[in-house]
Amino acid sequence: MSEEINGNMVLARALKEQGIEYVFGIVGHPVIELSMAIQSVGLKYIGMRNEQSATYAAQAIGYLTKKPGVCLVVSGPGLLHCTGGMANAQINCWPLLVIGGATNEDHEGIGGFQECNQVELSRPYCKYAARPPNASLIPTHVEKAVRLACYGRPGASYLDFPGNILQSVISVDKIVSCYSHPEPPIPFPNPKEIISSADALCSAKKPLVIIGKGAGYARAETYLRQLIHQTNLPFLATPMGKGVVPDTARQSVASARTLALQKADLILLVGARLNWILHFGRSPRFDSNVKVIQVDIVPEEMHNSIKSLAAIQSDILPFADALVDEMSKRKFRFDENNEWWKELNDKCEKNQKIVKEMSLDNSVPLNYYSVFHNVYDMIPNDCIIISEGANTMDIGRSILLNNLPRHRLDAGTFGTMGVGLGFGIAAALYCRDYCPGKRVICVEGDSAFGFSGMEIETMIRYNLPVVIIIVNNSGIGMGFSKEDYKSIQEMGDPSLTIPATALNAETHYEHMMNMFDKKGFYARTIPELKKAVKEALIPTDHPSIINVFINPQADRKPQTFSWLTESKL
Ligand code: ADP
Ligand code: MG
Repeated sequence: MSEEINGNMVLARALKEQGIEYVFGIVGHPVIELSMAIQSVGLKYIGMRNEQSATYAAQAIGYLTKKPGVCLVVSGPGLLHCTGGMANAQINCWPLLVIGGATNEDHEGIGGFQECNQVELSRPYCKYAARPPNASLIPTHVEKAVRLACYGRPGASYLDFPGNILQSVISVDKIVSCYSHPEPPIPFPNPKEIISSADALCSAKKPLVIIGKGAGYARAETYLRQLIHQTNLPFLATPMGKGVVPDTARQSVASARTLALQKADLILLVGARLNWILHFGRSPRFDSNVKVIQVDIVPEEMHNSIKSLAAIQSDILPFADALVDEMSKRKFRFDENNEWWKELNDKCEKNQKIVKEMSLDNSVPLNYYSVFHNVYDMIPNDCIIISEGANTMDIGRSILLNNLPRHRLDAGTFGTMGVGLGFGIAAALYCRDYCPGKRVICVEGDSAFGFSGMEIETMIRYNLPVVIIIVNNSGIGMGFSKEDYKSIQEMGDPSLTIPATALNAETHYEHMMNMFDKKGFYARTIPELKKAVKEALIPTDHPSIINVFINPQADRKPQTFSWLTESKL
């Protein structure tokens, strides 16, 4: 007689078969047994404190390893709490597989426990959402869900498992077995398009290369570095495209971003979209006559917002490889002494001077620039930096440089706050398993930290040495000093007087470490900050919190355009 197993084990084996390595989740009825089956087949299970954080961790591991992480949750509220995370994965084009328990099928329609239309609920945020009809068909659906999460433009998949299917027992020979699919097919560019791209780049007066996180996902760093190095073309990285070509490369014009976007006459856009992050590619942030060579894995993305000169459907890796060859053949090098480089260099110098002045201003209460400048000095230069919070993320991006690809994770295309600690957990596991010794630093606004602060307990449980730096201005955007906050509180009913953007003044978040008999740090001055960062980096078996009190009114340096200044749509 052949072996008999239940749905839990069929599912655990199918996940293993498809190359899944990590599962993040929060269990309860009906998926507790499933978590045990998952561990029994050798998959790593990480129990989180909040389902959203579990989805963030699972998608970050997907971006870092190119294989989806799984998020495992219970029915009803458990799955509902995942929708924000699924949407975030889908919008950032990162692979993710969510698995939800569901009420028993014979309780459906009559008020079953946590009954909820989960497949339909997930569908808008997923490339594939389904409920396997029985245990024998589980492997088929798992294969498809994983394939759709990583093939083409990566994204989210959802699989729904009623308790009765997980508990049903079948003999192994009744399982419809499934293959494990090969690596995603890689679309190559048409050689003619490489020639015309090279023609356009060679004849442009003001060329610019924009590198997005799609290039990071494509692992195109070797060729893109070669391209920039040998052609001397100026480039800009998007927030998570940072590090594909090092931020410290001479050709980075990050410090002249506004000017570069506004005046470029030809843009090579690799692995980035002309959405709000790039001001839709439109005037006044871009020249209205700018020509764009757009390279993307999906044809549907082409000509979005503006019409491209060339729309090249290709994986960035073979595209960059072929373009490097073509440009080498032509021995093309963009002259350092031409007008465009002069203009860009001048602007970079001017802006760097302003930022330097602000960075060197160590007056107390501290400003963002001096905090980041000093943090950057102290952290290992190969660490993974995670960042969220409005000013914390925006100002930090220009000072906390990345010289390695996929070493910056932030609120991303969806602008999601609350991703930080989940991303931190995934990044720390990735470091432990793939690059031991590498460190993870979460640079968090105090508001952003609040969304997922309890994940500190998860980091303690799994011995993850994440350093969390909270840049604390006691508010969302801006806050109040302790005295001002107190007087506002005393003005009458606090719900009528405390602005919606304020948080309790000078909260000592570092005391959370005391819950685990560990020491947290706080800093009001640069010497205190430096000492704290140094000490926080020592432990390699648990996280640390550094709470940096900054001026509640600290802001960005004056900007040419206010945030989200749009073209006339
Ligand atoms: P950023 O936030 O850096 O601007 P986006 O997420 O807006 O980046 O854009 C990334 C783009 O990269 C998406 O349009 C996606 O389809 C594309 N992409 C993802 N993977 C690849 C790949 N391997 N090759 C080419 N394009 C890719
Ligand atoms: Mg804040």
